[in-house]
Amino acid sequence: MAEIRLHPVIFLVSVTLIIIVLATMTRTLQLLRSRGHKQFRQLKRERHKTQRHLAIIDKHILMANTDANGKVTKASTAFCEHTGYTKEQLKSGTLARLIPDENSSSLLQQRYQEASQKGLVSVEAQEKNAYGGLYWVKLQIEPQYDRNANLIGFTEIREDISTQKKLEELWMTDQLTGLYNRSRLDELFEAELRRANRYGTQFSLLLLDIDHFKQINDTHGHLVGDDVLYAVANLLQSNIRDVDILGRWGGEEFMLILPNTNQSEALILAEKLRNTLRDHPFTAVSKVTASIGISSYIAGVEADELFKRADDALYRAKAKGRDRVELGMVSIPNPNEQSRDRSA
Ligand code: GH3
Ligand code: MG
Ligand code: MG
Repeated sequence: MAEIRLHPVIFLVSVTLIIIVLATMTRTLQLLRSRGHKQFRQLKRERHKTQRHLAIIDKHILMANTDANGKVTKASTAFCEHTGYTKEQLKSGTLARLIPDENSSSLLQQRYQEASQKGLVSVEAQEKNAYGGLYWVKLQIEPQYDRNANLIGFTEIREDISTQKKLEELWMTDQLTGLYNRSRLDELFEAELRRANRYGTQFSLLLLDIDHFKQINDTHGHLVGDDVLYAVANLLQSNIRDVDILGRWGGEEFMLILPNTNQSEALILAEKLRNTLRDHPFTAVSKVTASIGISSYIAGVEADELFKRADDALYRAKAKGRDRVELGMVSIPNPNEQSRDRSA
Protein backbone atom coordinates (compact mmCIF):
# COMPACT_ATOMS: atom_id res chain seq x y z
CA MET A 1 0.00 0.00 0.00
CA ALA A 2 1.33 3.33 -1.04
CA GLU A 3 1.84 5.66 1.84
CA ILE A 4 0.60 9.18 1.45
CA ARG A 5 3.03 11.55 2.88
CA LEU A 6 2.35 15.20 3.41
CA HIS A 7 4.98 17.75 3.20
CA PRO A 8 5.36 19.19 6.74
CA VAL A 9 4.81 22.76 5.52
CA ILE A 10 1.61 21.86 3.68
CA PHE A 11 0.48 19.94 6.75
CA LEU A 12 1.10 22.92 8.98
CA VAL A 13 -0.69 25.33 6.61
CA SER A 14 -3.68 22.99 6.35
CA VAL A 15 -3.98 22.60 10.12
CA THR A 16 -3.71 26.36 10.57
CA LEU A 17 -6.42 26.95 7.95
CA ILE A 18 -8.72 24.39 9.58
CA ILE A 19 -8.20 26.06 12.96
CA ILE A 20 -8.98 29.48 11.47
CA VAL A 21 -12.15 28.19 9.78
CA LEU A 22 -13.32 26.49 12.96
CA ALA A 23 -12.59 29.57 15.04
CA THR A 24 -14.49 31.77 12.60
CA MET A 25 -17.48 29.42 12.64
CA THR A 26 -17.51 29.31 16.43
CA ARG A 27 -17.33 33.10 16.62
CA THR A 28 -20.14 33.47 14.09
CA LEU A 29 -22.28 31.05 16.08
CA GLN A 30 -21.53 32.95 19.27
CA LEU A 31 -22.43 36.22 17.59
CA LEU A 32 -25.69 34.82 16.26
CA ARG A 33 -26.57 33.46 19.66
CA SER A 34 -25.82 36.73 21.44
CA ARG A 35 -27.78 38.67 18.80
CA GLY A 36 -30.70 36.32 19.28
CA HIS A 37 -30.48 36.92 23.01
CA LYS A 38 -30.35 40.64 22.50
CA GLN A 39 -33.38 40.61 20.25
CA PHE A 40 -35.20 38.37 22.65
CA ARG A 41 -34.42 40.70 25.54
CA GLN A 42 -35.50 43.64 23.40
CA LEU A 43 -38.80 41.93 22.60
CA LYS A 44 -39.33 41.18 26.28
CA ARG A 45 -38.68 44.81 27.17
CA GLU A 46 -41.14 45.96 24.48
CA ARG A 47 -43.74 43.54 25.77
CA HIS A 48 -43.35 44.89 29.30
CA LYS A 49 -43.67 48.42 28.00
CA THR A 50 -46.83 47.58 26.07
CA GLN A 51 -48.28 45.85 29.12
CA ARG A 52 -47.48 48.90 31.24
CA HIS A 53 -49.20 51.15 28.67
CA LEU A 54 -52.21 48.85 28.53
CA ALA A 55 -52.41 48.90 32.33
CA ILE A 56 -52.34 52.70 32.29
CA ILE A 57 -55.10 52.76 29.65
CA ASP A 58 -57.14 50.27 31.63
CA LYS A 59 -56.78 52.31 34.80
CA HIS A 60 -57.31 55.80 33.41
CA ILE A 61 -59.10 55.70 30.04
CA LEU A 62 -62.86 55.23 29.79
CA MET A 63 -62.76 52.73 26.97
CA ALA A 64 -65.10 50.00 25.76
CA ASN A 65 -65.17 47.74 22.76
CA THR A 66 -68.20 46.18 21.18
CA ASP A 67 -68.90 43.62 18.49
CA ALA A 68 -70.52 44.62 15.19
CA ASN A 69 -73.97 44.45 16.84
CA GLY A 70 -72.96 46.80 19.62
CA LYS A 71 -72.70 44.16 22.33
CA VAL A 72 -69.88 45.03 24.73
CA THR A 73 -66.86 42.76 24.43
CA LYS A 74 -64.34 44.68 26.56
CA ALA A 75 -64.47 47.49 29.08
CA SER A 76 -61.60 49.19 30.88
CA THR A 77 -61.50 49.22 34.68
CA ALA A 78 -61.77 53.02 34.57
CA PHE A 79 -64.93 52.72 32.47
CA CYS A 80 -66.47 50.28 34.96
CA GLU A 81 -65.61 52.49 37.93
CA HIS A 82 -66.99 55.55 36.16
CA THR A 83 -70.27 53.97 35.10
CA GLY A 84 -70.73 51.86 38.24
CA TYR A 85 -71.25 48.67 36.21
CA THR A 86 -69.12 45.53 36.48
CA LYS A 87 -67.44 44.15 33.37
CA GLU A 88 -69.89 41.25 33.39
CA GLN A 89 -72.89 43.56 33.56
CA LEU A 90 -71.56 45.66 30.70
CA LYS A 91 -70.76 42.59 28.61
CA SER A 92 -74.32 41.35 28.97
CA GLY A 93 -75.69 44.05 26.67
CA THR A 94 -75.04 47.25 24.73
CA LEU A 95 -74.02 50.71 25.90
CA ALA A 96 -77.57 51.95 25.31
CA ARG A 97 -77.98 51.52 29.08
CA LEU A 98 -75.90 54.70 29.53
CA ILE A 99 -78.16 56.86 27.35
CA PRO A 100 -80.84 58.61 29.42
CA ASP A 101 -83.49 58.54 26.71
CA GLU A 102 -86.40 56.22 26.07
CA ASN A 103 -85.13 55.72 22.51
CA SER A 104 -81.65 54.86 23.76
CA SER A 105 -81.24 51.77 21.54
CA SER A 106 -82.09 53.53 18.31
CA LEU A 107 -79.93 56.52 19.32
CA LEU A 108 -77.02 54.16 19.85
CA GLN A 109 -77.65 52.48 16.51
CA GLN A 110 -77.67 55.89 14.82
CA ARG A 111 -74.28 56.68 16.34
CA TYR A 112 -72.81 53.38 15.16
CA GLN A 113 -74.26 53.86 11.71
CA GLU A 114 -72.76 57.33 11.51
CA ALA A 115 -69.41 56.02 12.78
CA SER A 116 -69.41 53.33 10.07
CA GLN A 117 -70.18 55.90 7.40
CA LYS A 118 -67.81 58.65 8.53
CA GLY A 119 -65.04 56.61 10.19
CA LEU A 120 -65.45 58.51 13.47
CA VAL A 121 -68.22 60.04 15.53
CA SER A 122 -67.51 62.64 18.15
CA VAL A 123 -70.37 63.89 20.32
CA GLU A 124 -70.94 65.57 23.64
CA ALA A 125 -73.67 63.74 25.49
CA GLN A 126 -75.24 63.40 28.86
CA GLU A 127 -75.18 59.87 30.28
CA LYS A 128 -76.46 58.11 33.36
CA ASN A 129 -74.51 55.73 35.55
CA ALA A 130 -75.65 52.54 37.27
CA TYR A 131 -77.04 54.57 40.18
CA GLY A 132 -79.04 56.93 37.96
CA GLY A 133 -76.54 59.81 38.35
CA LEU A 134 -76.08 62.03 35.31
CA TYR A 135 -72.74 63.16 33.91
CA TRP A 136 -71.47 64.68 30.67
CA VAL A 137 -68.99 63.03 28.34
CA LYS A 138 -67.17 63.78 25.16
CA LEU A 139 -67.62 60.50 23.31
CA GLN A 140 -65.67 59.21 20.33
CA ILE A 141 -66.79 56.11 18.46
CA GLU A 142 -64.56 54.48 15.90
CA PRO A 143 -65.47 51.43 13.81
CA GLN A 144 -63.04 48.47 13.79
CA TYR A 145 -62.41 46.27 10.75
CA ASP A 146 -60.65 42.96 10.17
CA ARG A 147 -58.00 42.36 7.47
CA ASN A 148 -60.70 41.82 4.88
CA ALA A 149 -62.33 45.14 5.73
CA ASN A 150 -65.32 43.50 7.43
CA LEU A 151 -66.78 45.50 10.30
CA ILE A 152 -66.00 43.67 13.54
CA GLY A 153 -67.09 46.20 16.14
CA PHE A 154 -66.68 49.64 17.61
CA THR A 155 -64.32 51.28 20.05
CA GLU A 156 -65.85 53.89 22.33
CA ILE A 157 -63.61 56.31 24.21
CA ARG A 158 -65.07 58.79 26.68
CA GLU A 159 -63.83 61.82 28.52
CA ASP A 160 -65.86 63.15 31.44
CA ILE A 161 -66.60 66.82 30.77
CA SER A 162 -69.12 67.39 33.58
CA THR A 163 -66.95 70.04 35.26
CA GLN A 164 -66.43 71.88 31.99
CA LYS A 165 -70.19 71.74 31.33
CA LYS A 166 -70.92 73.06 34.82
CA LEU A 167 -68.51 75.94 34.28
CA GLU A 168 -70.04 76.69 30.87
CA GLU A 169 -73.48 76.71 32.46
CA LEU A 170 -72.32 79.05 35.21
CA TRP A 171 -70.67 81.27 32.67
CA MET A 172 -73.83 81.58 30.58
CA THR A 173 -76.44 81.72 33.36
CA ASP A 174 -77.77 84.64 35.32
CA GLN A 175 -77.56 83.58 38.95
CA LEU A 176 -80.69 85.33 40.19
CA THR A 177 -83.18 84.24 37.55
CA GLY A 178 -81.52 81.14 36.07
CA LEU A 179 -81.99 82.63 32.61
CA TYR A 180 -79.25 83.18 30.02
CA ASN A 181 -77.02 86.11 30.93
CA ARG A 182 -75.90 88.94 28.70
CA SER A 183 -72.78 87.19 27.30
CA ARG A 184 -74.80 84.18 26.24
CA LEU A 185 -77.56 86.38 24.80
CA ASP A 186 -74.93 88.18 22.73
CA GLU A 187 -73.74 84.86 21.31
CA LEU A 188 -77.26 83.58 20.63
CA PHE A 189 -78.29 86.85 19.00
CA GLU A 190 -75.26 86.74 16.67
CA ALA A 191 -75.99 83.08 15.89
CA GLU A 192 -79.62 83.85 15.06
CA LEU A 193 -78.54 86.71 12.82
CA ARG A 194 -76.07 84.45 10.98
CA ARG A 195 -78.82 81.87 10.53
CA ALA A 196 -81.23 84.49 9.17
CA ASN A 197 -78.59 85.87 6.78
CA ARG A 198 -77.71 82.43 5.53
CA TYR A 199 -81.14 80.83 5.21
CA GLY A 200 -83.28 83.92 4.71
CA THR A 201 -85.30 83.14 7.85
CA GLN A 202 -87.03 85.75 9.98
CA PHE A 203 -86.53 86.55 13.64
CA SER A 204 -87.47 89.28 16.06
CA LEU A 205 -85.84 90.80 19.08
CA LEU A 206 -87.72 92.06 22.14
CA LEU A 207 -86.31 94.24 24.89
CA LEU A 208 -88.50 94.31 27.98
CA ASP A 209 -87.85 96.64 30.89
CA ILE A 210 -89.83 96.63 34.13
CA ASP A 211 -91.43 100.02 34.78
CA HIS A 212 -90.45 102.03 37.86
CA PHE A 213 -88.55 99.10 39.28
CA LYS A 214 -86.49 101.40 41.46
CA GLN A 215 -89.69 102.28 43.32
CA ILE A 216 -90.30 98.58 44.05
CA ASN A 217 -86.84 98.37 45.61
CA ASP A 218 -87.27 101.63 47.46
CA THR A 219 -90.71 100.73 48.81
CA HIS A 220 -90.34 97.03 49.55
CA GLY A 221 -86.61 96.48 49.79
CA HIS A 222 -84.02 94.90 47.53
CA LEU A 223 -84.96 91.33 48.45
CA VAL A 224 -88.55 91.81 47.34
CA GLY A 225 -87.14 93.42 44.19
CA ASP A 226 -85.14 90.22 43.63
CA ASP A 227 -88.28 88.11 44.12
CA VAL A 228 -90.12 90.22 41.55
CA LEU A 229 -87.29 89.76 39.05
CA TYR A 230 -87.39 86.01 39.63
CA ALA A 231 -91.18 85.88 39.26
CA VAL A 232 -91.10 88.00 36.09
CA ALA A 233 -88.45 85.68 34.62
CA ASN A 234 -90.66 82.64 35.31
CA LEU A 235 -93.78 84.31 33.94
CA LEU A 236 -92.00 85.26 30.74
CA GLN A 237 -90.47 81.80 30.37
CA SER A 238 -93.81 80.07 30.75
CA ASN A 239 -95.45 82.27 28.12
CA ILE A 240 -93.06 81.71 25.24
CA ARG A 241 -92.31 78.78 22.93
CA ASP A 242 -89.51 76.29 23.61
CA VAL A 243 -87.56 77.65 20.66
CA ASP A 244 -87.72 81.24 21.90
CA ILE A 245 -84.68 82.47 23.78
CA LEU A 246 -85.12 84.46 26.97
CA GLY A 247 -82.37 86.05 28.99
CA ARG A 248 -81.67 88.76 31.50
CA TRP A 249 -79.95 91.58 29.67
CA GLY A 250 -79.10 93.34 32.92
CA GLY A 251 -80.78 94.89 35.97
CA GLU A 252 -84.56 94.77 35.39
CA GLU A 253 -84.25 94.37 31.64
CA PHE A 254 -84.90 91.15 29.69
CA MET A 255 -84.18 90.17 26.10
CA LEU A 256 -86.14 87.75 23.96
CA ILE A 257 -84.95 86.34 20.65
CA LEU A 258 -87.84 84.88 18.69
CA PRO A 259 -86.77 82.63 15.80
CA ASN A 260 -88.97 82.48 12.68
CA THR A 261 -91.07 85.35 13.98
CA ASN A 262 -91.91 88.42 11.95
CA GLN A 263 -92.79 91.83 13.31
CA SER A 264 -96.55 91.31 13.55
CA GLU A 265 -96.13 87.95 15.29
CA ALA A 266 -93.61 89.51 17.66
CA LEU A 267 -96.08 92.28 18.41
CA ILE A 268 -98.79 89.76 19.34
CA LEU A 269 -96.42 88.00 21.73
CA ALA A 270 -95.17 91.29 23.21
CA GLU A 271 -98.74 92.39 23.94
CA LYS A 272 -99.49 89.03 25.50
CA LEU A 273 -96.43 89.29 27.76
CA ARG A 274 -97.23 92.87 28.70
CA ASN A 275 -100.80 91.93 29.68
CA THR A 276 -99.69 88.80 31.53
CA LEU A 277 -97.27 90.84 33.66
CA ARG A 278 -99.76 93.60 34.38
CA ASP A 279 -102.48 91.13 35.38
CA HIS A 280 -100.28 88.84 37.46
CA PRO A 281 -100.93 88.91 41.22
CA PHE A 282 -97.39 89.39 42.58
CA THR A 283 -97.25 88.58 46.29
CA ALA A 284 -95.57 91.61 47.83
CA VAL A 285 -96.12 94.12 45.05
CA SER A 286 -99.57 95.15 43.91
CA LYS A 287 -98.79 95.69 40.27
CA VAL A 288 -95.85 95.24 37.94
CA THR A 289 -95.83 96.60 34.41
CA ALA A 290 -93.22 96.58 31.69
CA SER A 291 -92.39 98.41 28.49
CA ILE A 292 -91.28 96.54 25.40
CA GLY A 293 -89.35 97.51 22.28
CA ILE A 294 -89.42 95.28 19.20
CA SER A 295 -86.96 94.99 16.36
CA SER A 296 -87.39 92.52 13.52
CA TYR A 297 -84.72 91.16 11.21
CA ILE A 298 -84.07 93.02 8.01
CA ALA A 299 -81.59 91.48 5.55
CA GLY A 300 -78.30 93.33 5.50
CA VAL A 301 -78.80 95.11 8.82
CA GLU A 302 -76.02 94.58 11.36
CA ALA A 303 -76.54 93.20 14.89
CA ASP A 304 -75.78 96.56 16.54
CA GLU A 305 -78.35 98.31 14.38
CA LEU A 306 -81.02 95.67 15.08
CA PHE A 307 -80.37 96.00 18.78
CA LYS A 308 -80.47 99.79 18.61
CA ARG A 309 -83.87 99.67 16.91
CA ALA A 310 -85.28 97.60 19.77
CA ASP A 311 -83.60 99.85 22.33
CA ASP A 312 -84.94 103.02 20.66
CA ALA A 313 -88.42 101.47 20.55
CA LEU A 314 -88.18 100.64 24.26
CA TYR A 315 -87.12 104.21 24.98
CA ARG A 316 -90.17 105.47 23.04
CA ALA A 317 -92.45 103.11 25.00
CA LYS A 318 -91.09 104.62 28.23
CA ALA A 319 -91.44 108.15 26.89
CA LYS A 320 -95.03 107.53 25.81
CA GLY A 321 -96.07 106.58 29.33
CA ARG A 322 -94.76 103.01 29.94
CA ASP A 323 -96.76 99.75 30.07
CA ARG A 324 -96.75 99.66 26.27
CA VAL A 325 -95.12 98.08 23.23
CA GLU A 326 -93.33 100.03 20.51
CA LEU A 327 -91.99 98.82 17.19
CA GLY A 328 -88.46 99.49 15.99
CA MET A 329 -88.21 101.64 12.88
CA VAL A 330 -88.27 99.56 9.73
CA SER A 331 -86.68 100.65 6.50
CA ILE A 332 -88.87 98.44 4.33
CA PRO A 333 -92.57 99.20 3.78
CA ASN A 334 -94.81 96.98 5.89
CA PRO A 335 -98.51 96.67 4.98
CA ASN A 336 -99.50 95.95 8.61
CA GLU A 337 -97.65 98.93 10.02
CA GLN A 338 -100.86 100.97 10.54
CA SER A 339 -102.73 98.41 12.61
CA ARG A 340 -99.59 97.52 14.57
CA ASP A 341 -99.05 101.14 15.51
CA ARG A 342 -102.57 101.37 16.74
CA SER A 343 -102.38 98.26 18.84
CA ALA A 344 -99.04 99.32 20.38
P1 GH3 B 1 -88.06 102.88 34.24
O1 GH3 B 1 -89.53 102.74 34.28
O2 GH3 B 1 -87.63 104.12 33.52
O3 GH3 B 1 -87.38 101.68 33.68
O4 GH3 B 1 -87.58 103.06 35.73
P2 GH3 B 1 -86.83 102.05 36.65
O5 GH3 B 1 -86.94 102.49 38.05
O6 GH3 B 1 -87.32 100.68 36.36
O7 GH3 B 1 -85.36 102.14 36.07
P3 GH3 B 1 -84.05 102.64 36.76
O8 GH3 B 1 -82.99 102.40 35.72
O9 GH3 B 1 -84.19 104.04 37.27
O10 GH3 B 1 -83.82 101.67 37.97
C1 GH3 B 1 -83.59 100.34 37.83
C2 GH3 B 1 -83.40 99.74 39.19
O11 GH3 B 1 -83.23 98.34 39.14
C3 GH3 B 1 -82.19 100.30 39.91
C4 GH3 B 1 -81.45 99.10 40.38
O12 GH3 B 1 -81.01 99.21 41.71
C5 GH3 B 1 -82.45 97.98 40.25
N1 GH3 B 1 -81.81 96.69 40.05
C6 GH3 B 1 -80.92 96.34 39.11
N2 GH3 B 1 -80.55 95.06 39.27
C7 GH3 B 1 -81.21 94.60 40.36
C8 GH3 B 1 -81.24 93.34 41.04
O13 GH3 B 1 -80.57 92.35 40.68
N3 GH3 B 1 -82.06 93.22 42.11
C9 GH3 B 1 -82.81 94.28 42.54
N4 GH3 B 1 -83.57 94.09 43.59
N5 GH3 B 1 -82.79 95.46 41.93
C10 GH3 B 1 -82.01 95.64 40.86
MG1 MG C 1 -87.03 99.85 34.43
MG1 MG D 1 -83.69 99.53 32.94
